[in-house]
Amino acid sequence: MDNYPLLLTEENRLARLPFEECVYELDFLGIEHLTPERFMGPVSETAKENAKRLQSVGWDRTQASPIQMLATPDVPQYILDATSESLQAATNYLGNYGPLKFYTVGNDPEVVEPIIKDFCSWGNSFISFEQCSQDQGESMREMSSIYPGGNAFAGAAWESDDPVFYFVNNPCANEQNEFCSLKHPQELIGLQKMTAHEYFHVYQGSQQIFRPHYEGGFPMPRWFEEGAAEYFAVFLTQQEGWNPNIRLDMTRESILDVQRGLETWPSLRLIDIETEAATTRTKSYCQSELCIGFLQYGMGYLAMAFLAEITSDEAIFFDFYEANKTDGFYKAFADVFGRDIDAFYEEFDVFLKLSPEKQLEALI
Ligand SMILES: [Zn+2]
Repeated sequence: MDNYPLLLTEENRLARLPFEECVYELDFLGIEHLTPERFMGPVSETAKENAKRLQSVGWDRTQASPIQMLATPDVPQYILDATSESLQAATNYLGNYGPLKFYTVGNDPEVVEPIIKDFCSWGNSFISFEQCSQDQGESMREMSSIYPGGNAFAGAAWESDDPVFYFVNNPCANEQNEFCSLKHPQELIGLQKMTAHEYFHVYQGSQQIFRPHYEGGFPMPRWFEEGAAEYFAVFLTQQEGWNPNIRLDMTRESILDVQRGLETWPSLRLIDIETEAATTRTKSYCQSELCIGFLQYGMGYLAMAFLAEITSDEAIFFDFYEANKTDGFYKAFADVFGRDIDAFYEEFDVFLKLSPEKQLEALI
């Protein structure tokens, strides 16, 4: 059948959200893969100027000053200790990049204002306090008052004269607006894993000096960015013994997630979200964010685990970023991993055709 247009508008989006998973009842016609426009340089003068400025303030070098952690007073110490343990392990392994402030927002809107003030002065010198307070400040107020659930956002104020990184986390709360980890200590492991994932983004950002935001800066495919962050988070959670089964569990889960996604969208592959333009096209093809999620996280994680298996963790965590800094994604990929991106896609495709059991066997 033809792909049925589900008429996405903002009004009906929320109303339809509970039925989102219905998409798995559909079978989609195949999509033709378009080779995306791949920027391989040379980088523009503006991107170069900016890189010079960032490097002059030590953006891509390890920092002497430790990560600063700030929290609203209602956040219990054990949550902060778990966060700090994860940041410590991540920086020990990757190096301490920043400057980074890590904010933890609790569940009490009465005590959130001072931390919003601090956040808005951290590297936001180029926008007014009012602007920041209405934008990200408002998200922080929502975090402190909306439950159940948790939320987070992260970023880098790299345009600022004193460029910085930030991460804002609101740990999971239950129906009674209590921290989930009070009754379920395993939530803390999830928090530690997420912290490691986010710290990996800080590391990635610090090594991207020719910012992709510029015309003539080096982009990085989102599946690679997310897959690598998740692969690192799983690696660290396993290595530190926070959850010794995480690698097995995550691999198994991702294999099933990808199987299910491929039953619905049999032709979708990583190349379909390689660039922002490709992602937009894919989103309109499948009429659902779920297909982007399955590609970016499920397939992205599996692809990184597979890439690590055929190369090495060292190459994925370190060698790639060193080459990527000056040469950009495509050349760095080919040089460090010994095959270009298209050859990798082909190898990974052969892997995806294996049975779930064989896939698991290959990765564990
Ligand atoms: Zn991420």
